[in-house]
Amino acid sequence: MDNNNKRILLCLAHMSGNEMKYIQEAFDTNWVVPLGPNVNGFEEDLKRFFISKSEGQKFANEKYPQSIQPHVDAPDNLWKEGYEELKEKQIVALCAGTAAVHLALVALGVKAGDEVICQSFTFCASSHPVTYQGATPVFVDSEKDTWNMDPQLLEEAIKDRIKKTGKKPKAIIVVYLYGMPAKINEILEIAAKYDIPVIEDAAEGLGSRYNGQAVGTFGEFGVMSFNGNKMITTSGGGALICPNAEMKNRIMFFATQAREAFPYYQHEEIGYNYRMSNICAGIGRGQMTVLDEHIEHHKHVADLYAKGLKEVKGVTFHDNPDSEYDSNFWLNTITLDKDLKVKGQEKAYAQAVQGAVGGAAGVVHSTGQAHTACEPNTNIEAMRMELDKANIESRPLWKPMHLQPVYKNCPAYTNGVSEELFKVGLCLPSGPLVSDEDVKYIIDAIKRSIA
Ligand SMILES: *Cc1c(COP(=O)(O)O)cnc(C)c1O
Repeated sequence: MDNNNKRILLCLAHMSGNEMKYIQEAFDTNWVVPLGPNVNGFEEDLKRFFISKSEGQKFANEKYPQSIQPHVDAPDNLWKEGYEELKEKQIVALCAGTAAVHLALVALGVKAGDEVICQSFTFCASSHPVTYQGATPVFVDSEKDTWNMDPQLLEEAIKDRIKKTGKKPKAIIVVYLYGMPAKINEILEIAAKYDIPVIEDAAEGLGSRYNGQAVGTFGEFGVMSFNGNKMITTSGGGALICPNAEMKNRIMFFATQAREAFPYYQHEEIGYNYRMSNICAGIGRGQMTVLDEHIEHHKHVADLYAKGLKEVKGVTFHDNPDSEYDSNFWLNTITLDKDLKVKGQEKAYAQAVQGAVGGAAGVVHSTGQAHTACEPNTNIEAMRMELDKANIESRPLWKPMHLQPVYKNCPAYTNGVSEELFKVGLCLPSGPLVSDEDVKYIIDAIKRSIA
């Protein structure tokens, strides 16, 4: 069975058909620059999405999102009682999610010699920007329910850093891995106790909610990504949710080379070229018209996996821990029991892999080695290879940052959870291009690969 040779990919954004209209408009009006009507419109669309989602309701305007009319401001009466503080939130569109993390750190005044607490179980874009500032990431491990930052370990880390360095960490970066909400209330409580700002890395969590509130709107800053593999795409792009208009202004200042208000170029601070292009924002506006559908589809696919894998011994689907959690299931993930035997297990890791994970735009940085000091179990690698043979892309869970050679000198507060998950977990195809038949085919392939 070869599934008609169609390769089923992990997650790839899917166009709505409306994108070209926005792009055409940008060309027609000569707005082919990193600012303009699409950028402003996209920011308004996002704001609107976070409002309506925080209320747990769909877009209020019936003409929206199908309409591609110029944006209308979100009416005040869309705000749900109890979420009034969200009203102040503002969004800045940027060229990447990584840039959004970086600018949040810049705005919080993170400098050389500072420490920033960061969830260890994440993609490198959460922690790399800490090093751009010359600061040191302090990694905190995960808890088993959500796979995100362990609140208890967070407090231990804060106390210990204060004891060891005499200084508080400058910020806390919590991540919504694979879209799963974290134990954000407990994390916010601890952050408030020590008066440390929280940056939510919601790059994988667009549309996920905790107790009905959209992730990314809880902390001081919220990070979004619109890379090609995320919930929606602008080809490449990101955004930062800011606490208020004043901070939005400050972020825009840093995102456009920190130009002071003079008739000539005057610089008193270091800036960056991080604003989103008006063309990319046009893609984003088109994507916003299908965001709700995409989120629904990701959840639908998760449901199919959860049901279909329930009876498969040795395979566990990572589901919402309980009803407070409402993951977007950006990527669906499973774990395999250590003693589950998979076909070809004895040959796993026999060969060094040539390219980087995720393609990395064809960049080859091969070490020529098949092993590292910490790697997924052989049954995971064997399952990955079996699925690959069936034209199904899968990928091990992200390798925790505290186990990455580049971060070997950074402090880490660990409990073994993320290391264990890395050894036993696999991401499965998800997203708008994965059909019901595909899920059935994937589940069959998983069953067939068990020896
Ligand atoms: C994708 C991602 C980012 C960064 O996004 P880019 O837009 O690719 O720069 C940040 N954090 C996490 C956890 C991500 O998965």
